[in-house]
Amino acid sequence: NSALNAFDPELGAAMDAEAQRQQDHLELIASENYTSALVLEAQGSVLTNKYAEGYPGKRYYGGCEFVDVAEQLAIDRAKQLFGADWANVQPHSGSSANSAVYMALMQPGETILGMSLAHGGHLTHGAKVSFSGKIYHAEQYGIDTATGLIDYDALEAQAIAVKPKMIVAGYSAYSRHLDFARFRAIADKVGALLWVDMAHFAGLVAAGLYPNPVPFADVVTTTTHKTLRGPRGGMILCRANPDIEKKLNSMVFPGTQGGPLMHVIAAKAVAFLEALQPAFKTYQAQVIANARAMAAIFMARGYDVISGGTDNHLMLVSLVAKGLTGKDADAALGRAHITVNKNSVPNDPQSPFVTSGIRVGTPAITTRGFGVAECETVATAMCDVMDCMAAKGDLSSVEQDVAGRITALCRRFPAPA
Ligand code: PLP
Repeated sequence: NSALNAFDPELGAAMDAEAQRQQDHLELIASENYTSALVLEAQGSVLTNKYAEGYPGKRYYGGCEFVDVAEQLAIDRAKQLFGADWANVQPHSGSSANSAVYMALMQPGETILGMSLAHGGHLTHGAKVSFSGKIYHAEQYGIDTATGLIDYDALEAQAIAVKPKMIVAGYSAYSRHLDFARFRAIADKVGALLWVDMAHFAGLVAAGLYPNPVPFADVVTTTTHKTLRGPRGGMILCRANPDIEKKLNSMVFPGTQGGPLMHVIAAKAVAFLEALQPAFKTYQAQVIANARAMAAIFMARGYDVISGGTDNHLMLVSLVAKGLTGKDADAALGRAHITVNKNSVPNDPQSPFVTSGIRVGTPAITTRGFGVAECETVATAMCDVMDCMAAKGDLSSVEQDVAGRITALCRRFPAPA
């Protein structure tokens, strides 16, 4: 972007440095990915200039005939990808989609039953610091710490006890399939609505490699930028239900948002078309194979992978037994050019800012072209760093050695520019 560099060298330099960082560091944050050049082209387009409050064919502004086409394409492709009868592609983010769901289907003070942040849920599933835990009465479920899995019998007993208006299934840090039929049965037993937040695994669902929640849930939300590999944004889906559709539409606009981001909606349409291609299924199958390969290395090297493995794109590695904190591991791996995020583990002895775990995901490195062999190399390098920390060895020399190995890998597999 030389014109931008000439006009605004300070910003241009920061953007160039970020582009270089994305090339030189391995991105293992499970919620990140590299969008395609086509998605970037749509997102960086003149559609950003257009106000289009309302929905296709029913706008509050003139001149919407072309952005109507873009939004309808995004809607139709979203429905096709997930087998949904209805879609709203306007939410600016996953959290915006979730706030519209709350506003549409819950009254303040009513009870939500969601997975706790400490056990892998998202902030918007009822955490105290989020609007969802402040405005609504949030009850939280977790995993069985002995198995690392959701205990559906315990969840059912809790649902019977707390009588939620809505149950939310979905996570930011859980590595197994969710049993949507069981969630539905529990919701039906207690007369609750079932909302699934598939933000993390939507790409796997689109590829047919993870159970699809749409047939089971009253409403499904997602982000579009994680495994789905689109622009940063959100979306809401459901089966035919005119009452819920109307409430959700009016709670996205005008309930919680103003004008939709038409350039982002166009980029969503591109990403959904990409996700409908056969190559997307191949990509997602590799994402899962890569995650399994990394989990196997961690476990072989004596690291505790919560639930003993993974069925999706991520894993949570507990460092409690190694006496390490997530904060220190995150920092040391970062110096070795490997970006992860520290993450609380169930019954974490450390605070949420320090933590005793790291979350590791394969969507971004798989987009770079990494296969199982490269992922095994990365997991091995990570264990070398963390072993050295646990043994209180010469960390800076191990970090330097690993950074060298990682740089060589990054050069072989450039990130999409
Ligand atoms: N829901 C889940 C399960 C998530 O993991 C996230 C993001 O991490 C969100 C919602 C929120 O998405 P956003 O960051 O776009 O608001």
